Amino acid sequence: MRQLLLSFIIGATFIGCGIASSTQGGVVGADRSQLMLVSAEQMEQGANQNYGKVLSQANAQGILNKNHTQTRKVRAIARRLISQVGVFRKDALNWDWQVNVIDKDVLNAWCMPGGKIAFYSGIINKLNLNDAEIASVMGHEIAHALKEHSRERASQAQVKQVGFMLAGQLLGVSNSNLQLANLVSKYALELPFGRSHESEADNMGIELMARAGYDPRAAVNVWKKMQKVSSGAPMEFMSTHPSHKSRIENLTKMSQKVYPLYSQSRR
Ligand SMILES: [Zn+2]
Repeated sequence: MRQLLLSFIIGATFIGCGIASSTQGGVVGADRSQLMLVSAEQMEQGANQNYGKVLSQANAQGILNKNHTQTRKVRAIARRLISQVGVFRKDALNWDWQVNVIDKDVLNAWCMPGGKIAFYSGIINKLNLNDAEIASVMGHEIAHALKEHSRERASQAQVKQVGFMLAGQLLGVSNSNLQLANLVSKYALELPFGRSHESEADNMGIELMARAGYDPRAAVNVWKKMQKVSSGAPMEFMSTHPSHKSRIENLTKMSQKVYPLYSQSRR
């Protein structure tokens, strides 16, 4: 059994999968190892398809980047954050990042695998977010993509579905692509992230914003604001576990940890 496992891991590594950390640690220590059975390319393919669909739907409804001032602002903030992603992974500096604002009254924002960002006007308007607060939400979403949380969850689902041994066999066949596109949609868009992924995204996001020159204490503010309005909103980070209280505590601690990075960025 051990030999089988070993050959499976070697095989998986060969095609870009296996057990490794998708990112370097940074100051916040984001170098946790992850089991990856689904390839990054497959996740990205699925993400591109899904992103294209969301954008063309929004465009057809006349709600894509409708508010030019807001879109410009969100894109400028994204540029500053993206310029810092190299601290966690150098390759992400060369991703084909895209940032679009959808004019819809929902508390939502996300970043799909490979750097495809959607920001909904509702979260900015309802929470009356300033630039640093927008950077905090976006940093969190970018972190999910950098750490490849969707890919990790799709991989975990494969293990559950077919078992470890069968997963190895499945990896060899190319007709699993279609299935994977569906997995991407499910794990990048529909299901909320789990508690540990949320905390990890909080930690990486706050480091990104601090390095980009945004006061990390704004992250704490965002969650205090969320706490006030969190009733039945379909937002990925509201539906999951870290309670607002523990989240605010953790972010307060983390904001102190990364504060020196913020000070340095302003020199
Ligand atoms: Zn999240």
